[in-house]
Amino acid sequence: MSFVPPGTGWPDDPATPSTPVATTPAEVAELAANSPSIGELTARQSVCRACPRLVAWREEVADVKRKAYREETYWGRPIAGWGDDDPRVLIVGLAPAAHGGNRTGRIFTGDRSGDWLFASLFRSGLAAQPTSVHAGDGQRLIGARMVAAVRCAPPANKPTPEERDTCFPWLLQELRLVRPRVVVALGGFAWQAIWPALKAAGYALPSPRPPFGHGVEVPLGETTLIGCYHPSQQNTFTGRVTEAMLDAVFSRAAAL
Ligand code: SF4
Repeated sequence: MSFVPPGTGWPDDPATPSTPVATTPAEVAELAANSPSIGELTARQSVCRACPRLVAWREEVADVKRKAYREETYWGRPIAGWGDDDPRVLIVGLAPAAHGGNRTGRIFTGDRSGDWLFASLFRSGLAAQPTSVHAGDGQRLIGARMVAAVRCAPPANKPTPEERDTCFPWLLQELRLVRPRVVVALGGFAWQAIWPALKAAGYALPSPRPPFGHGVEVPLGETTLIGCYHPSQQNTFTGRVTEAMLDAVFSRAAAL
């Protein structure tokens, strides 16, 4: 088992050795709800150990590694929200990838989905560079922030409903603290995950809930929720998602 200990020099590590560690769902709820700032919230997220199956998996992957990355140190911890601390656009995904975010320490970084996503964010004026390779590479988001509904890489990319619920308070508090103008849900799972968080954060939601679709816009008072197909390899290989489709969503989000 291995992971990067907090406060040991990893670029952008939000935590220190004294950051409180949640080890149960109740502790996640408490530590999230009383996080006074986005910096403290992300620090606490990044050391969380409340889901035994996910903690074991993320650390085993970080220890065994993929052959191509065997010389690298894997992050092996939860992937905290990342980007602008006061964003207009909040991009919500489902969970990090075992050899992507779990390796590089940054959300959507180190896999093909992330390559597509960051290239589009750059073209739309929401990212400073067209690529995101690793924490500390100089990339930054401009008026945008990314979060995962479940912050630890799950086996087979599938978190359980219980794990999603355990991680929920981290998502809710991040939404409360940043109050974005636009929320972009990347994929149907993220669309499902964000509705309860929007409700708990006090947004007035339409009923019935509009179905997920690419480019679907839902006005929520001063905030707009937008659906976006996930730039997964399956979607990009098959042409279900194109660069132009991603650019249309993120340009619209930037314009709003
Ligand atoms: S998935 Fe969320 S709640 Fe579970 S261990 Fe990771 S950060 Fe903590």
